[in-house]
Amino acid sequence: MDYISTTCVIAGGGPAGLMAGYLLARAGVDVTVLEKHKDFLRDFRGDTIHPSTLEIMHELGLLERFLNLPHSEIRHLTVEIGRQKFTVGDFARLSTRCKFLGLMPQWDFLDFLAHEARKFPHFRLLMQTEARDLLMSGKRMAGVLAKGPSGAVLVRAGLTIAADGRHSILRDKSRLPKKEIGAPFDVLWLKLPTQRGDPVDIVGRVMGGQFFVMLWRDAYWQCALGIPKGSFDEIRREGITGFRARLRSIAGFARDRVETVTGFDQVKLLTVAVDRLEQWARPGFLCIGDAAHAMSPVGGVGVNLAIQDAVAAANILGPVMRRGAPKLADLKKVQRRREWPTRVVQWAQVAAQNRIIAPTLRAARTPEPPLVLKLLQRYPALQRIPAQLVGVGVRPEHVRFETDMVHLGQPRLEIVPPPVVIPIHQHRR
Ligand SMILES: Cc1cc2nc3c(=O)[nH]c(=O)nc-3n(C[C@H](O)[C@H](O)[C@H](O)COP(=O)(O)OP(=O)(O)OC[C@H]3O[C@@H](n4cnc5c(N)ncnc54)[C@H](O)[C@@H]3O)c2cc1C
Repeated sequence: MDYISTTCVIAGGGPAGLMAGYLLARAGVDVTVLEKHKDFLRDFRGDTIHPSTLEIMHELGLLERFLNLPHSEIRHLTVEIGRQKFTVGDFARLSTRCKFLGLMPQWDFLDFLAHEARKFPHFRLLMQTEARDLLMSGKRMAGVLAKGPSGAVLVRAGLTIAADGRHSILRDKSRLPKKEIGAPFDVLWLKLPTQRGDPVDIVGRVMGGQFFVMLWRDAYWQCALGIPKGSFDEIRREGITGFRARLRSIAGFARDRVETVTGFDQVKLLTVAVDRLEQWARPGFLCIGDAAHAMSPVGGVGVNLAIQDAVAAANILGPVMRRGAPKLADLKKVQRRREWPTRVVQWAQVAAQNRIIAPTLRAARTPEPPLVLKLLQRYPALQRIPAQLVGVGVRPEHVRFETDMVHLGQPRLEIVPPPVVIPIHQHRR
């Protein structure tokens, strides 16, 4: 077994975990991030970089370098219902520095953050290291037991952050109470080739009882087909020819490319979950991002929310951790700050799921465009509202700017983790 002692261990190298790791290391905290995969190269990640995330990159002095990476800039949110096209949001109307939504493969974004974080001497990223259990010391969480490439790793820590996504192991182990909200649909994730002249954009289409989203990824379109929850087996029974016919009816300008889908091994089922913890923290332990609140893909806002959680956590805990281990009251402040924006966004997602997506999938016909879409066309100034909700969200976070937060020397304070730790399931309740 390998032993590591750190001030803060973060399980999960997704947007929430890496941003929290970067910011805490920047504030002088000794941080260890564990990521279970050997790289960030998985294609089922949201690719949207929101104007408010770009604002944070600017506040960190990273924006210019970041925008040198290949990306595309989406200025409008559009949706097609049947044969009608509607502009829903206009990012040019935002007051943010970047008046667009960036589209970049998420692995490039995460590689960039990891590269920048490694410049802080007390930031450690352990790839291929999966957190499997929580450790306790007395009544406090005291780190994680993980499985690394060469065996077990015991990480003792003054603070443990779960940022391990919507199927979070650590959240389950902590037994924090959770409210299941649910989603009536799942997503089939597949690729179609791009061709010269394609719109470099996000395409959302609702037609004939189906909805389809296409994200431009230069060499190919990353496509998401919404299906009623639990219906993938039935679709598979239709065979690949039947599936291609389905795709053809919704793929619009890319309909002639569906022949490139030759088998169901090219189609990945992504189950959609929506839930929220009632309590995000226990002594020595905090959940952020999807681990605290699994987001629906509706509106493509989960990545932004995860980043905002990370910024709030670092703003609140960074200064506290210069003095010592955070108390439960400090951790609860993170929930107090972020729970309201989470509730608002989940409320909007659930409304869209129940009022638009579920009836569309059930009725197997193209729905009538809702009145609100017609109003947005007639009064374009209103397009600022959806742009603000999607691009910035409610209660956007800002990096606290004290220059002495940027710390390149030894960690400011080593919180000595407790010497005796036991796995949580062995802990006497
Ligand atoms: C089909 C689908 C499409 C979506 N599309 C978008 C979109 O376009 N835009 C958008 O903003 N949001 C989108 N979302 C939502 C978005 O993906 C999430 O809200 C967001 O990724 C949450 O970020 P996170 O860092 O909390 O978790 P994640 O992104 O899930 O990251 C968690 C990380 O932890 C790692 N991990 C997991 N378990 C462990 C462990 N035990 N030990 C160590 N590491 C572990 C994982 O490998 C992963 O890297 C989509 C969601 C779905 C389901």
